[in-house]
Amino acid sequence: NYKELEKILFSMDGKSYSLYKSLKGEYRFEKYILAIDHVQSDPYAPPSKMRVIMDRKICGIPCELTDTKDKNIAVSDFLTRNFYREIQKSGNDSTGTGGSGRIFIDRCGQEILERTSVMIKGDKVEVRFEMGMPARGRRIMGKAAQKIIFEQLPEIVEKSIIYDNLNKKALNEQVILVLDQEYARKMLKEKGLVAFVANDSVLPRESGVSDRPMKNAVKFKSPEKFEITLKLPSGKEISGMGIPKGITLIVGGGYHGKSTLLAALERGIYNHIAQDGREFIISESDAVKIRAEDGRNVEKVNISGFINNLPQNKDTRAFSTENASGSTSQAANVAEALEYGTSLLLIDEDTSATNFMIRDARMQKLVAKEKEPITPFIDRVKELYDNFGVSTILIVGGSGDYFDVANHVIMMDEYVPKDVTEKAKEIAKSDENKREFSSNDKFQGVTQRIPFKRSFSQSGKLDKTKAKGKYSILYGKDLIDISGLEQLVDDSQTNCIAVMIDYFKNKVLDEKLTLSQAADRIYEKIEKEGLDSISSYTGHPGNLALPRKQEFCAAVNRYRKLKIK
Ligand code: ADP
Ligand code: MG
Repeated sequence: NYKELEKILFSMDGKSYSLYKSLKGEYRFEKYILAIDHVQSDPYAPPSKMRVIMDRKICGIPCELTDTKDKNIAVSDFLTRNFYREIQKSGNDSTGTGGSGRIFIDRCGQEILERTSVMIKGDKVEVRFEMGMPARGRRIMGKAAQKIIFEQLPEIVEKSIIYDNLNKKALNEQVILVLDQEYARKMLKEKGLVAFVANDSVLPRESGVSDRPMKNAVKFKSPEKFEITLKLPSGKEISGMGIPKGITLIVGGGYHGKSTLLAALERGIYNHIAQDGREFIISESDAVKIRAEDGRNVEKVNISGFINNLPQNKDTRAFSTENASGSTSQAANVAEALEYGTSLLLIDEDTSATNFMIRDARMQKLVAKEKEPITPFIDRVKELYDNFGVSTILIVGGSGDYFDVANHVIMMDEYVPKDVTEKAKEIAKSDENKREFSSNDKFQGVTQRIPFKRSFSQSGKLDKTKAKGKYSILYGKDLIDISGLEQLVDDSQTNCIAVMIDYFKNKVLDEKLTLSQAADRIYEKIEKEGLDSISSYTGHPGNLALPRKQEFCAAVNRYRKLKIK
């Protein structure tokens, strides 16, 4: 019935834009069904949502390329990138008003994420994209619409989705790459490691606004002591630096590449595309970057392991503030990370509160233990590992106090890592002016918190959650600022968090589940029924990319009206 659609489009030419709404429905084309799920109400509104639904037989992608979840993600990512590229090649420019006549699909960055943009399931392949329905002023441009839907779109689909037209070698390589990366991540535990950085990796990025690899960077080379070799499922063997469990200190002069190394480890939770330079920088998938985030809201978090005896007897086992200081925010970030579950903390001096990280011997002599509410991280880091199994990799370039507690010390020297563990230990041993352990008690762990359903009690029109760029989410009129979440990499992850919060407050919260358990419910649902299943739309689910549980929970914790039982 595509002939019919063509006729309708011609007949609409010059008529009022709102008539486009009548196009909602499904149309059979030669190789696929075009589903028009949602039509924009005017040319400036977000573009119309559509899907191409194709039989797998016609698409031709072999089953063995998609028979596991990891493979499926690798192929979907590949097809999304293809579709995006073909849109650009097709001369995707706007002739009319607003976004008229343009086609959009979710844009992938350097990471390979689980997305809704292309879904391969059962005997169907579905592409979810958007189109700005063409207009001049508020009048329909019927011929232009016909051209996009009947010429431009079929060509894009043909070139980017049909297996015979794809770069089969590149597709196959991407699948193999993802499997190798996933395997390497699984191997970490077996080898007693928390992270791995392959030799010849490129760590620095092109610029502060580009996530592409820096050209002419100094390539990574492991210190001999930490060098290990992984044998991958593809048969490839890669050597590089294995960072063992425990406490690893990164030191070195300013500008020698410390933060760049840590940033690469932060992103090592994700798989990366070929040529990124970080393909085999692999971290524990639950690694959490911990930073100071002053000004953030904290709701009944047990930070007593780090902060105690506040003036006026403020309880730090259920500590709340609307405006956290550097140290309390960092303490809350650690406590919350432990609540959702993590096996590796990543800390950079550049984004830490000094009084949270260290207190030296002289200051200990001057200010009595009883007068200082903070137990600095240096006095908890060993307990975290010994009693809770949580490792830490941290950068401290300005104080040698951590030599006492570190299991390994790596020095960055002109972008090259060196093992300086023994030397650091010697220096620590020969130092007479030792600091003391500064707490009176042991680290008690954290408290799981149960959110009240009434935290989310906006009514009517305000009861809407919406992402605004990568770092903000609006719930009604309330802004959730997630700019402190440095491991979030994609706008579509933020979109997804917004959708998850909706699902969370409507379907999961029940006054019994802790935040962490409630989050698990959502991920179980996604695991069973797919990422689409949490979207409230039928058809095109919106551009969603799966964030980790850590980022989802962190976003909920930054909602200023969150109330805890
Ligand atoms: P530090 O944290 O030790 O002060 P940074 O990691 O911030 O140092 O790095 C300082 C600068 O050096 C940054 O501009 C970074 O892009 C650059 N850089 C880092 N690693 C490399 C490398 N391997 N090759 C080339 N330049 C690098
Ligand atoms: Mg730095």
